[in-house]
Amino acid sequence: MKKYEVAVVGQGPAGLSAAIYTARAGMSTLVLGCEPKVSGDYDIDNYFGFPETITGRELLERGKRQAKRFDVQMRCDRVLGIHPTENEEFEIKTETGKVRACSVILATGVSRIRPGIEDLSEYEGKGVSYCVSCDGFFFRNKQVMVVGEGIFAANQALELTQYTPHVSVCSQGKPLTMTESFQEKLQEAGIPVKQRKIERVEGNDVLERVIYDDGSEEAVDGLFIALGEASSLDFAYSLGVMRNGVFLQVDEEQKTSFPGVFAAGDCVGRFLQISVAVGEGAIAGRSAINFVKKQCREKGKS
Ligand code: FAD
Repeated sequence: MKKYEVAVVGQGPAGLSAAIYTARAGMSTLVLGCEPKVSGDYDIDNYFGFPETITGRELLERGKRQAKRFDVQMRCDRVLGIHPTENEEFEIKTETGKVRACSVILATGVSRIRPGIEDLSEYEGKGVSYCVSCDGFFFRNKQVMVVGEGIFAANQALELTQYTPHVSVCSQGKPLTMTESFQEKLQEAGIPVKQRKIERVEGNDVLERVIYDDGSEEAVDGLFIALGEASSLDFAYSLGVMRNGVFLQVDEEQKTSFPGVFAAGDCVGRFLQISVAVGEGAIAGRSAINFVKKQCREKGKS
């Protein structure tokens, strides 16, 4: 498995800025992620140094070219999960494989999609979960459902089969975006996929059933939300990183509560602007450099 000193999740301004710093400091750096939302033909009028304005696409292209000049490895690949290993590294599972890293910088922007299910928050921690690796164990041999339409949901459902054979997927009425190979994997594992929409959840003290938009119901003990692609919040849940609502909590050095994991840009929820993302990326990069030197190079792990 390929190993990097720094893995950056996110190819937006925060991630690219962080990678430029780590790579210029001689750290092997991988950036995962695809086209950020701002990489269209939007005029960016308020970013320092461009008096005639610049499009988001051009600004990001310039950032990528700059990062490549310092040997940053870049891949349009989505991260499905991040897990600490026994020797204090991180294993990063993506749609195309796995990599290892000594430190991780989360720069995923704000992409979390709300499922639009009534009363969902009432059952959080009482049947509703956002993290299979945290809560799957509590649903051994129980009836569980994953809400999501993409590879992230498929992967969560397959992970759940470690705990229970009673797993299904509900796309929340969305067309499936998971690849055929993942659909086949679900079929082989005996996991049915429903393209239905859950309107609300019900139970007494704990979750007992979902109610679909046609009024029919289905008994479930656990409902795992995994819409769209995995966000920084999903990684925060599985790593146990402290949060501030839907954002990641960081200190002034962009350190999260998990050693070796840093976060920058919109995912930490300060001022959602490119200039701030770039600045926070630089600080996260510097913190990752210090971490790698102390925790990996001095201990001979790089
Ligand atoms: P993003 O730019 O959102 O990048 C997130 C990255 O994370 C993407 O590459 C994405 O693919 C990746 N990612 C997410 N999940 C995963 C995963 N599971 N695995 C791998 N990668 C993942 N700001 C300004 O300052 N001026 C403006 O004029 C301006 N105009 C804007 C116009 C539009 C239309 C939009 C949408 C935003 C605009 N903004 C503007 C806001 C600005 O774009 C954001 O503040 C900035 O892009 C945040 O940077 P970021 O790196 O934190 O996140």
